[in-house]
Amino acid sequence: MIIPLKMKLSVNEEAELKEICTEFGVNIQPIIGAHRTVYAILGDERDALLVKKIEGLPFIERIDRIQSIYKLMAIDSELKNHRIFINGKQLGRNFITIAGHCTIDPDNKNYFLDTALAVKEAGADALRGGVWKPRTSPHSFQGDIRSLDILMEVREKTKMAVDTEVMNEEQVKLCVDAGVDILQVGARNALNYELLKKIGELIAGKDTLVLLKRSIHNGKIDEFLSAAEYIAAMGNPNIILCPRGTLPTLDGYRNYPDESISILLKQKTWAPVIVDPSHSVGKAQYVPFACLAAASYGADGICVETHICPNKGIGDDPKQAITPEVLKKIIDDTNHIFQLKQKYIGAL
Ligand code: PEP
Ligand code: MN
Repeated sequence: MIIPLKMKLSVNEEAELKEICTEFGVNIQPIIGAHRTVYAILGDERDALLVKKIEGLPFIERIDRIQSIYKLMAIDSELKNHRIFINGKQLGRNFITIAGHCTIDPDNKNYFLDTALAVKEAGADALRGGVWKPRTSPHSFQGDIRSLDILMEVREKTKMAVDTEVMNEEQVKLCVDAGVDILQVGARNALNYELLKKIGELIAGKDTLVLLKRSIHNGKIDEFLSAAEYIAAMGNPNIILCPRGTLPTLDGYRNYPDESISILLKQKTWAPVIVDPSHSVGKAQYVPFACLAAASYGADGICVETHICPNKGIGDDPKQAITPEVLKKIIDDTNHIFQLKQKYIGAL
């Protein structure tokens, strides 16, 4: 990674840098961080002469050759001071709660508005609502484009940041154009590298955030972080990591709860962690326990399926959505645990 001496290179300086890279058959990708724009080298950066030539430029501080497969997401990367905000609150400083429907019902939009108002009242920071849904059966409801209008209308009414899942390029474009704040990449697409690259490219330099779920097929933590690296390398480092349960499934839980990796992620990356307890345990009665566990394991927040009237919901909501009343208790208690946790951080 190329680290310039200043916050932003001029057009001429960038062109000079590009010219050297082209000579060596590599490309550069600007990554706009909070403090500085750095450049990822796409291609083989090991050529010693290339490194010398770049480091010889008067406006370049150094080239970081981090020995990790994820150079940008690594805890000691140049992006380590990058900060991510949701509705004005900084992740890491505040415990953040994203709450709302698994799936927006386009034929009953008032439920979504009522849920949104109730979760806001309960203290949630952002609103989730599925427009398009990845369903195991092709015969199940796949989502509806009308729900994007409902999501944006409710965003306008509540002034809450909104999160929805995208599964292809067209959906990403529609969401970016509409002004969706957080693009969710689901467990099924978390290793779809072409999609990850496309998302990074379409939101490069924008404020849009990505909530990247952990794939059920993710093995090692490094694989999860490498998936995030795909998005960052294309130009958008606003990535939040989201453990959501993994394999093998347990009798009784929807997936194998993995909120405990929060603290492990924090040893390896600067990126914030928001745990999804709903898809992890998969049953409303278990969700509060998983939320408290996520906060205890050092997560920066939770993303919880919540519905004003779960049995009137669609998608996952009838079985795993909690009510706004339960959410309120969870928000109070997770915030308390978040404060307590600070005592133990120094010991890591
Ligand atoms: C969801 O958030 O509703 C969802 C489908 O999640 P996941 O991709 O984690 O299964
Ligand atoms: Mn769901």
